[in-house]
Formats: sequence, C-alpha cells, structure tokens
Amino acid sequence: MHHTESAEPRTLGDHTWHNQAACLSTPAHPVDPELFFPEPDELDRIRAAKALCAQCPVRQTCLDAALEAGDRDGIRGGMTEEERDPLHRNLHRRLDYARVNATLAGRDIHLTDAERRAVTRAAYQAGVPAARLARLLKVTEEHAEKRYRQVRREIRNRSVNGTSDQTETYRDDFGTAA
Ligand code: SF4
Repeated sequence: MHHTESAEPRTLGDHTWHNQAACLSTPAHPVDPELFFPEPDELDRIRAAKALCAQCPVRQTCLDAALEAGDRDGIRGGMTEEERDPLHRNLHRRLDYARVNATLAGRDIHLTDAERRAVTRAAYQAGVPAARLARLLKVTEEHAEKRYRQVRREIRNRSVNGTSDQTETYRDDFGTAA
C-alpha cells in the first residue's frame, strides 16, 4: 500500500519538515504557490508541481501530513486532489507498524484506530502497565485498563473458537501489515 512505505513517522505537531520542502519559495528559488492548486485540466501546472514533488526530500511526510490533517485541497506529496481521494477515504484502515512501534517507543504519532488497537495488543503482550499505555495513547488509566480487558476478551474468544493459538494469530496480524 502506498502509505506503508512511509519514512520515519512524523511526530504530531512537528512542522520542521516544511523547511525542506521543494515547494518552499525563497528569493533564490521562487515558487508560485498557485502551481499546487491547479484545475483538473491544467496539465502543465500539474506536471510542473509534480516535478517539484518528485525531487522533494519530504514528499512522504508531506503526503502523510495532508492525509492526517484531512487536507484534501491542492497537490500534496506528488498527488493531485483526485489521486489522493482514495487514500483519504481509506486512511482509517491504515495499519503501519512503523507508527505502532514509534508510539510504543514513546513518540507522539498520529494513529488510526487500527494502529491504536495494535499498540494496545503489543503493549499487553509486553506486559506494559496500564498507566504507561494510558500515557502512550493519551487516555485515562481507566480507559487503558478497559482496552486491556478487551484484548483479554479477544484472546479468550480466539482460543474458544479454536482457529489457531494466540501467538500464531498475533504473528499473522503483524506479518500481513508490515
Ligand atoms: S511533496 Fe510537493 S507539495 Fe509536498 S512539500 Fe514537497 S514539493 Fe511541496
């Protein structure tokens, strides 16, 4: 999937990547911002904007930031509004283990619901105390305990259903998304 090839996930609220943007206009390198808001039939402008994006060192971060902010306007990360639309619509299904792992390491990362569940499962399996999970997910400790209870229920249900043992199931969860 497109967005799982991401670079190091961006810390929430970090805008320092803007300074490296190829579309950053400077006196030595002026860029018309209108270039990034073409009409669908303005192919020359679209091509020119995409050419800048193609050599931009923060292209993936730019795309991720637009998706996470729900910013559907203009060209971002080398993609037009139309091209980005399915990514916006499917963002809630993203399960990117770079983000899960960065969160477990204590970084403040934008997570989808699926990624929050993956953080909870991994933290549970690693024996992370609920108080720590609460800090990682920015929820109350009570809510973190509730999330752990849900994981315990899931594990119980899986073993009752007897489809596979829990270790195998979890490995599969991780493997398919990595
Ligand atoms: S990817 Fe394109 S729109 Fe995004 S920062 Fe780079 S040049 Fe600008």
